[in-house]
Amino acid sequence: MRNLVISLTELGWNSSCQEHFAAFKDLGFEAARVIQEHKEAYLLFAEGRELSGEVSGRFRHQAQSKGDFPAVGDWVAVEGRPGETKATIHAVLPRRSAFTRTAAGGRTEAQVVAANVDAAFLVSGLDGDFNVRRIERYLTLAWDSGSSPVVVLNKSDLCADVEARVDEVERIAIGVPVLPISAVEGRGLDSLRDHVGPGKTGVFLGSSGVGKSTLINALLGTDRMKVRAVRQDDSHGRHTTTHRELIVLPGGGVVIDTPGMRELQLWSDEAGLKQAFDDIETLAEQCRFRDCAHRSEPGCAIRRAIKLGTLDARRYESYLKLNRELRYLDARQDQKERLLEKARWKKLSAGRRKRNRHARPWR
Ligand code: GDP
Ligand code: ZN
Repeated sequence: MRNLVISLTELGWNSSCQEHFAAFKDLGFEAARVIQEHKEAYLLFAEGRELSGEVSGRFRHQAQSKGDFPAVGDWVAVEGRPGETKATIHAVLPRRSAFTRTAAGGRTEAQVVAANVDAAFLVSGLDGDFNVRRIERYLTLAWDSGSSPVVVLNKSDLCADVEARVDEVERIAIGVPVLPISAVEGRGLDSLRDHVGPGKTGVFLGSSGVGKSTLINALLGTDRMKVRAVRQDDSHGRHTTTHRELIVLPGGGVVIDTPGMRELQLWSDEAGLKQAFDDIETLAEQCRFRDCAHRSEPGCAIRRAIKLGTLDARRYESYLKLNRELRYLDARQDQKERLLEKARWKKLSAGRRKRNRHARPWR
């Protein structure tokens, strides 16, 4: 299926992009959005045309980590000759938000799986899959990315007490929209559309089987993704990406659906955790001792809240668990940064030595 002419505005181009792009425009570059990535070969949408792109040699040389490379959803500055479909990517514009994950191979290097996302739809099924603790984890992920979370409770047709579920989620997702939806019956879809309108970019997060593809198809109004059929036809038993990873919706709005997004792992920072567990952080400030470990200290506000039932012990457990995971990741990240820094200094001083060797008399 070929896409017709799509404007940058339909892809989400806005005044902030324009501002960031100004300097590149003066240099004669063109703006484009990354719609697919495969082994550092990029499919791009520029104004009214599709391009295939690769980063320039200079870009590659200057990139310090995987996270610096273009990702689906990124706005890039490209150089492409008129009439040709190949383009060279010279720069990635600053990201409004980014979902990252640990790069493959077990190294702790953040790799961007989706950039410039406005709305993160955290999808759960109101069937056996429903799990508040999991929603908490996804909330942390969403806050960390810089996008705005929207909790989607799909399969409401299978649930006898939707209201109670919504209440339950609203208690842990303070200030976050919670939308009960039935993708198969088309109920609540308009509330979803409100968050991914023209110029806005959304992603769908959630376990396999909660209905992400069905929801995306419902928004598209076609069976474009052919969820089941594709999976069955594929002899490798994997999801063939015949569909684009960045999908433009008929009424405007963009959905990013990459394989990386589908298997997103926890890669959080402190700020996101604090925001998702704001109530616990606030409680902890009320403990008598500043360094309270919330075990058996007198005057511990957290223990008291658990005893009184105002804080769910399981919620506190998942907070502790996330904290532990974060500390582990932090430690590995620190180690990695120290090594990088060392390498950088080595390179710098080698360069300096070289320059001194070739020093010109007028310098
Ligand atoms: P994904 O893995 O998250 O993309 O999930 P799919 O979209 O493939 O959906 C998994 C299954 O759930 C399919 O059999 C869908 O028909 C079904 N499903 C999706 N949405 C709903 C819904 O609102 N109600 C019900 N009853 N089933 C749904
Ligand atoms: Zn305490």
